[in-house]
Amino acid sequence: MIRVKQALTIILKSIRPLGREQVDLSNGLDRIISFDVRAKCKLPPFDNSAMDGYALRAKDTKGASKVEPRVLQVIEDVPAGYTAKNKIRDNQAIRIMTGAAFPSGADSVVMVEFTKRVKRNKKSYPEEVEIYKETKLSENVRRAGEDVKKGQRVLSRGCILRPQELGMLAALGINRIDVAKRPRVGILATGDELVPVQGKLGKGKIRNSNSFILRAQISKCGGIPIDLGIARDKRRELRSKITTGLKKKLDLLLVLGGISVGDYDLVKDVLFELGMKMKFWRVAMRPGKPLAFGFIKGIPVFGLPGNPVSSTISFEEFVRPALLKMQGAKNLFRPRVWATLTEDLQKKKNLRYFIRAKVKIKNGKFYVSSTGAQGSGIINSLVLADGIIVAPEGLELLKQGQMISVQLLRQGYDGGVI
Ligand code: AMP
Ligand code: MG
Repeated sequence: MIRVKQALTIILKSIRPLGREQVDLSNGLDRIISFDVRAKCKLPPFDNSAMDGYALRAKDTKGASKVEPRVLQVIEDVPAGYTAKNKIRDNQAIRIMTGAAFPSGADSVVMVEFTKRVKRNKKSYPEEVEIYKETKLSENVRRAGEDVKKGQRVLSRGCILRPQELGMLAALGINRIDVAKRPRVGILATGDELVPVQGKLGKGKIRNSNSFILRAQISKCGGIPIDLGIARDKRRELRSKITTGLKKKLDLLLVLGGISVGDYDLVKDVLFELGMKMKFWRVAMRPGKPLAFGFIKGIPVFGLPGNPVSSTISFEEFVRPALLKMQGAKNLFRPRVWATLTEDLQKKKNLRYFIRAKVKIKNGKFYVSSTGAQGSGIINSLVLADGIIVAPEGLELLKQGQMISVQLLRQGYDGGVI
């Protein structure tokens, strides 16, 4: 039996990044970018107005107020998408819209709210505008390159493309992007007791819930789940289903259940028969002790414990980082925070515990408690969890009030604790 940290080190050392592929920006969400992006142009590309208003010379607004407006000549109107034909001189202004190119000769923009157009003659220039407020040099002007300088690195390889990263790429005119290939991950459930979710439950049977958890977990970290169905606890069937699975161009295989020491736990034997080079079996943790990892013909294989909680946690702690590493991700782990424990928790000294937990924030501080019953079959302990308390080896009692490390689980539009 090895320690969690050792197991993770072995896994990450032996996992190689997959290749890359090109996708259009519209398919880039949540993909992991495989190159550093440097700006080939500056952003914004030209000086432009940050407000609807009037471009003018700041000195011409000196002393302007509601009571004593300055009156300037309006020589032109410039909507966004156009440039001024005229250059501004003293005591002149150009009506300008947000995003329109900033006219030469001007040095600032006064917001339209602090002006009043005096229309004498429809559509004929010059008109006049009353200005009620002083402007400062460069006020309400967005300077070319103030967002991004030419040559600046704006994204680093290994980052996950969120909406804002896609926006940056679009602004820079980059449509085809190199992203990591998505790992193809086979899932084979095992067990005579398992029935597909839409199947009829006979006596002593349960539904195959784990494959669904794993499929979703795989998708959430960028993988492509490939469901290999359910194998009965028979050597021949296990062998043939694993062999068929491995032919499906898998980058990783998960075999679920049958990896412990029960009479019908045949998976380990069968994996050996198929030439598995076992790196380890059994990790000093709870839940999830019976975990196997190795390679068959160069393909990484995890034998995950069958209990839903054990397999989910094992995936979280070992498979997820492996899949992210395959995609060249910079960050392989969940965000962690220190939180105050609000109850006493017992544990076995030599094991690392991963306790499903409710996380709360009060006055800007994190508080954490277990979700209740922690049995490895209690799916509800996962449903209720916002995070996972990582209770290290060496401790037997975690005391109410002590600080403890928590991995935060919720991400995305499900809100969550932060
Ligand atoms: P095993 O690791 O095969 O001994 O299974 C441990 C426990 O997990 C048993 O109670 C199994 O019935 C249950 N189990 C195994 N595979 C699944 C699955 N795919 N879905 C739900 N429960 C499972
Ligand atoms: Mg089983």
